[in-house]
Amino acid sequence: MRAATYEYDRGLAGDFSFIAHESLHAFGLVHAHDDRGADYGDAWDVMGYYYTYQIHRPNGWMVGPESNAAHRSMLGVMPAGPLMVKVPVDSGYYTVEFRQRSGYDINLPEDAVQVHWVTGRDTYLQTSPADRLIEGDVFSDARLSVRVDAVDPGAGTATVTIAY
Ligand SMILES: [Zn+2]
Repeated sequence: MRAATYEYDRGLAGDFSFIAHESLHAFGLVHAHDDRGADYGDAWDVMGYYYTYQIHRPNGWMVGPESNAAHRSMLGVMPAGPLMVKVPVDSGYYTVEFRQRSGYDINLPEDAVQVHWVTGRDTYLQTSPADRLIEGDVFSDARLSVRVDAVDPGAGTATVTIAY
């Protein structure tokens, strides 16, 4: 029993991603889903799958990634500026946001636009045609269309055309 407790503690030491995930539950966030039915489906969010795009520091610590814009908005920590477009539809809303590889998000696959469907406190990363949209990509379903016209990582901007 003592050995098991030690291993458990050692496994958690420095895992700030795990600590952040569990702490954010206490602030009211639920898991970050995807649109394929996976409870932890959003690997771009610390509230998603455990093996998200977190940072593994040389000392063994793990941090990140950040949360999607809807989660940040729920927490009241959305930075000022036009970083998220919110499109109310029926019983929920879509968000369109631009995620960049910096800070706790440095291990994201690329700078890209993402679309989430949000209902209540549940966020669903849209994965068709991909979990991230880059220049030229189009997300489209029966209620929303998002075309990425340009992505400029240097300027920190994405230009999108949204129709609903
Ligand atoms: Zn959890």
